[in-house]
Amino acid sequence: MHAHIRPQPGILEIALYQGGSSKIAGREDVVKLSSNENPFGPGDLARNAYMRAGHDLHRYPATDHAGLRAALAASFGLDASRILCGAGSDEIISFLCQAYAGRGDEVLYSEHGFLMYRISALAAGATPVVAPERARTTDVDALLAAATKRTKLVFVANPNNPTGTMIPMDEVQRLAEGLPRQALLVLDGAYAEFVEGYDGGAALVDARENVVMTRTFSKLFGLGGLRVGWGYGPQHVMEVLGRVRGPFNLSNVQLDVAEAALGDAAHITRSLSENARLRDWLSAKLTALGVATDPSHANFVLARFRDATQAEACNAALLAEGLIVRQVGSYGLPEALRITIGDESACRRVAHVIGTFMETQG
Ligand SMILES: *Cc1c(COP(=O)(O)O)cnc(C)c1O
Repeated sequence: MHAHIRPQPGILEIALYQGGSSKIAGREDVVKLSSNENPFGPGDLARNAYMRAGHDLHRYPATDHAGLRAALAASFGLDASRILCGAGSDEIISFLCQAYAGRGDEVLYSEHGFLMYRISALAAGATPVVAPERARTTDVDALLAAATKRTKLVFVANPNNPTGTMIPMDEVQRLAEGLPRQALLVLDGAYAEFVEGYDGGAALVDARENVVMTRTFSKLFGLGGLRVGWGYGPQHVMEVLGRVRGPFNLSNVQLDVAEAALGDAAHITRSLSENARLRDWLSAKLTALGVATDPSHANFVLARFRDATQAEACNAALLAEGLIVRQVGSYGLPEALRITIGDESACRRVAHVIGTFMETQG
C-alpha cells in the first residue's frame, strides 16, 4: 500500500475473486466442473455468428443494443425499453451498486450469496450486510429483519449459487412488499432458465417499482467466455443504469453471438434436458453413497460431506483423477463441494471417484 496515494475506502477490503480453476499440472484429460459452464459449449448458431462477426471488427458496435434487446423481449415476453445489457450480469450488479449504494449505505444479501454482491458493494464504498439462511435456503424473514433505513440494495439469487436451492415466488413477493421504501430488490436469475415455468421474477418486476431482475448468457447458453448479461427493471431504475453504462460496453461480437444463441432452440432444449437428466442421476448416486445434497434447481449440485476435512480429502481425490470441482469455503460452506453437471461421461467419472473415496471413509 502506498503511503499517500490511496484508493477509496472499502476498496482494499475486497478479496480478489477466485474463478473456478481449469488446469491440473501434467494432466491432459481434465474436466472442469468448477464454474457452472454448459458442458456442450455454445451451440452451432452462436459459433457461426462468432465467425461472421470477425468481418466487422473495425466497426464500432451499436450503443443502444437494440437488436439484442428486441430479441430478449420477444423470447421472454418483456418490454424491450426496460432491458439493459452488460458485460455479464456481473456488470449489471456493479452498475446497480455504483448507482444506488455509496458510503454509509448498506447492501444486503444472504449468508451463502454470490461473492460479487460483496465485491461490488465494497467497490462502491457501501457496507455489505449478511442475513442468515435457513438450511442453505434464502430466509425472507431474516432478510426483512436485517433491512434498515440504510439498506439500498437487497440481492437474492433464485435459484442460489452455490446452494442450488430456491424460494417460491410468493416468498419473493413477500420480501419485495416488506422491504423499506428506499430499498431495491435485485433478483439474480443466472439460473432461472433451468427452472421450468419460472420467469425469473419478470412478472414481479412489471408489477412493482422496487424489483430488478438480472440474467446471463454465461450458464445455460454456454457463453461464459463471451461476457453478456442483462437486466430488466422498472423504468425509473433502467434510466438510471443507462447513465452509468458506457456507450460501447458490449462489442458487436458479444451482441451478435448472444442474439444468435437466444434463437438456438435445439441447443437450448438439449442443454436443458441433459442437465435435468444428469442432475437427477448424480444427485441420486450421491445420496446412495451417503453424500447429502439439497434438491438443486440449477446446473450444479452441492455435495455435503461430514466436515471440511472430508470435503478437502474428496476434492483431492477428484483432482487426482483429473476432475476439478469447486471448493466453497469462501461461501461459508467448507464442508461442501459444488459440482457442475457435466456431460454423461463427466458425471459418471465424478460418481465413480466419490464412490471409491467414500469406501475409504470410516
Ligand atoms: C454465474 C453467476 C452470475 C453470472 O455472472 P456473469 O457475469 O453473467 O457471467 C450471476 N449470478 C450468479 C449467482 C451466478 O452464479
